[in-house]
Amino acid sequence: MSEQQNFDVVVIGAGPAGYHAAIRAAQLGLKTACVDAALGKDGKPALGGTCLRVGCIPSKALLDSSRQFWNMGHIFDQHGISFDKPAIDVKKMVARKDGIVKQFTGGIGMLFKANKVAPFYGFAQLQPGNVVKVKQHDGSEVELKGTNVIIAAGSDSIELPFAKFGEHIVDNVGALDFETVPKRLGVIGAGVIGLELGSVWNRLGSEVVVLEGLPNFLAAADAEVAKVAAREFKKQGLDIRLGCKVSNTEVKKDGVHVFYTDDKGEQEIVVDKLLVAVGRRAATKGLLADGTGVKLDARGMIEVDEHNHTGVDGVWAVGDCVRGPMLAHKGFEEGIAVAELIAGLPGHVNLDTIPWVIYTEPEIAWVGKTEEQLKAEGIPYKAGSFPFAAVGRAVAMAEPAGFVKVLAHAETDTVLGMHLVGANVSELVHEGVLTMEFKGSADDLARICHAHPSLSEAVHDAAMAVHKRSIHKAN
Ligand code: NAD
Repeated sequence: MSEQQNFDVVVIGAGPAGYHAAIRAAQLGLKTACVDAALGKDGKPALGGTCLRVGCIPSKALLDSSRQFWNMGHIFDQHGISFDKPAIDVKKMVARKDGIVKQFTGGIGMLFKANKVAPFYGFAQLQPGNVVKVKQHDGSEVELKGTNVIIAAGSDSIELPFAKFGEHIVDNVGALDFETVPKRLGVIGAGVIGLELGSVWNRLGSEVVVLEGLPNFLAAADAEVAKVAAREFKKQGLDIRLGCKVSNTEVKKDGVHVFYTDDKGEQEIVVDKLLVAVGRRAATKGLLADGTGVKLDARGMIEVDEHNHTGVDGVWAVGDCVRGPMLAHKGFEEGIAVAELIAGLPGHVNLDTIPWVIYTEPEIAWVGKTEEQLKAEGIPYKAGSFPFAAVGRAVAMAEPAGFVKVLAHAETDTVLGMHLVGANVSELVHEGVLTMEFKGSADDLARICHAHPSLSEAVHDAAMAVHKRSIHKAN
């Protein structure tokens, strides 16, 4: 019989959704525990989930390192800066990334301490009656009884049956830790991970071939954004092949053989490493004991209502393991909202204003509906766009690629979407998020003073262009 401890809130998972839920619950005076099974590269418990350990943060560290390297070879010359041939020390680059990961995963531990969240390290399983059984790393078991339980178990990479992960075939975790630059890198899936990590290794010198199953590039993004992004990636040497049905892989002496068919017939490429980035699935394996009453949908996600409640008294679920985009910041907001609902406050997440960002060069970002969606839904709209090539700051930075597009309702002028491709658009997209959250119009955005010179002027002029009154381009 294992010992049982009582809490107001027990959170399963200390990733973005879970740690936000735990800290907010503790801030609101609720006695809170948070359980996580993950271990870091040093074999010690590491909080922060996929995002901090093997996702958002380490990939951004490598994107930044590789970008500096790329700029040395491709951009510095424009500024009149010359030097001997640049070289990359991959071990040092990866060690820098590991240091950043350690700093941030350790930071969650400190935040738990400061907020009096009790951490438990081990695999948690929900039992009937809101009991969470934790198999701790030392083999012992502990039972945590929560008046409320918040499941924030996250997601795992999808593995293809004919491309099992190992030394040569990897997911995002492996592709963050190559010891040398692979001469040839294959990527299955031209989604967020494929493009970001494909870019990292391409910039460092890999020949990168990306095999995408769909016939359209970046089908979820605005078509004009996808077109500009595809053109820029091609210039950088990323070989993105669309409509590829991968049927098999074989690891041989000379590399990984990848077999696929496209509209020209059967094809084969040979690469040194193969990154499989075909999406993620909810990490619900072994999570629910029999009889909890918590239901999974057809894709294995935990079923929840619009307030993230599972329908079982006191049991909630947030983040990647429930419907909605698998984005850390969506999980942040759900975690906070559920903690607030538990404390009797109004908690709410608007899934229609979640920003999307792909941290390639140029960056891609959007919020709200695309033109294609508005057309399909029969919503009348007006569009205004503005190119970074006409923005003084962007040109001075040698970052003229891309544009900002604002979509507004044709009758009410309410902003319905903003689509961006260009430098630092991961920051600019929040003008769209704010405007949409406040139900603002294109005219509101056009009348807000934007600093000159700044990249944000592209947003300003795009908003003005909705009413054909852009100052810096012909309307
Ligand atoms: P994704 O859904 O972004 O992209 C997967 C791609 O693989 C899609 O284009 C899909 O059409 C393609 N695909 C699927 N099966 C295929 C097959 N058999 N052959 C060829 N192509 C195939 O998934 P991901 O890139 O693996 O990322 C996983 C999740 O992580 C996503 O939900 C993403 O939003 C999230 N993520 C976000 C960020 C960010 O916000 N910047 C970064 C990394 C990951």
